[in-house]
Amino acid sequence: MTEEKKELYLGYTTDKAVTPFFQEFLEHLDEERLMKSTCSTCGVDYLPPREHCQKCMSKTKMVEMTEREATCYSYVIVDFAPETLSSKQPYVVAIGEFPSGLKLTAHITNLTDMPKVGMPMKLGFAKESEGKMITYRWLV
Ligand SMILES: [Zn+2]
Repeated sequence: MTEEKKELYLGYTTDKAVTPFFQEFLEHLDEERLMKSTCSTCGVDYLPPREHCQKCMSKTKMVEMTEREATCYSYVIVDFAPETLSSKQPYVVAIGEFPSGLKLTAHITNLTDMPKVGMPMKLGFAKESEGKMITYRWLV
């Protein structure tokens, strides 16, 4: 796998190879707006957004995610990170569950203690580093 493809997989790039749908998601993210998608036919929500509904294959519509508070559904502590994230190890990746039931996987970047399932988390936005795009993360 080339370096370029690895970056695309992580979703941290505005590489020209991204689809227009994903490009729109990234542009909103850069304005600190997290988007979900809603199926125009059956109304199912997807987070992160999917361009087509998994149940009925209809096209979805991108809608802003307004929920900010979630609880920790699950987490992992990453001690052995891939090369691109090795400077951040060990780090914690958590699945947060919003009151609507939608779940989102992201890093927790401000932990001072061990994470706990059920702890409250808040959606935050920041750049990984200068010159990078804004990404979402969990804050505790
Ligand atoms: Zn559908």
